[in-house]
Amino acid sequence: MLELRDVTFSYDQKPILKDFSLTLADGEILAVMGPSGCGKSTLLSLCAGLLRPQKGFVISSFDRISFVFQEPRLLPWLTVRENLAAVLKKTDGIEEIITDALDSVELSDCKNLYPEELSGGMKSRVSLARALIFDGDLFLFDEPFAALDEELRKRIGAEMRRHLKEKGAAAIFVTHQLSDAEMMADRILYLPSTNT
Ligand code: ADP
Ligand code: MG
Repeated sequence: MLELRDVTFSYDQKPILKDFSLTLADGEILAVMGPSGCGKSTLLSLCAGLLRPQKGFVISSFDRISFVFQEPRLLPWLTVRENLAAVLKKTDGIEEIITDALDSVELSDCKNLYPEELSGGMKSRVSLARALIFDGDLFLFDEPFAALDEELRKRIGAEMRRHLKEKGAAAIFVTHQLSDAEMMADRILYLPSTNT
């Protein structure tokens, strides 16, 4: 379970969240929507412990977080296969694990390519595959499908949801698309603009 209790967070003088509370149950998938700049990415960083609130608490019982950042953040000097292998601790069966993860984002043929040889959408799919392989008990997705076309986001979204539900993992999923939120999530949270 993850709980944010009365969280207040500002960058310098810019208030982002004030007395904000949220509970995410084990196995729950929450979509977060809201206008650009309202604090969606900041909220994910607070959930991951990458930022600390000035007031309030973040309490988490999760111990492995698969964080899919807004930018794919692949290591440019490694191939797709090596980028995925880099998050695996074990050495047994890794080829099969990597093949399965790449299949689920429809990139089976890209194992030996370098990030610079991939389109923006392909890079974001590799970062999704990497998150699957890291296999957290909490997944944080920051606009993971932004660079994907309608058909692909439907298929990969359904695949992600299937994976999360099969594992019983919880997830917070930031998106601008209501259709993605409805497809992926059990519940939708709207964050208001910070300018009001
Ligand atoms: P969203 O993901 O909803 O678009 P963010 O959480 O990225 O919003 O950012 C919320 C607001 O905080 C934006 O106005 C953004 O410019 C500002 N912001 C984000 N990161 C920083 C930072 N490191 N320092 C100062 N301001 C920031
Ligand atoms: Mg953002």
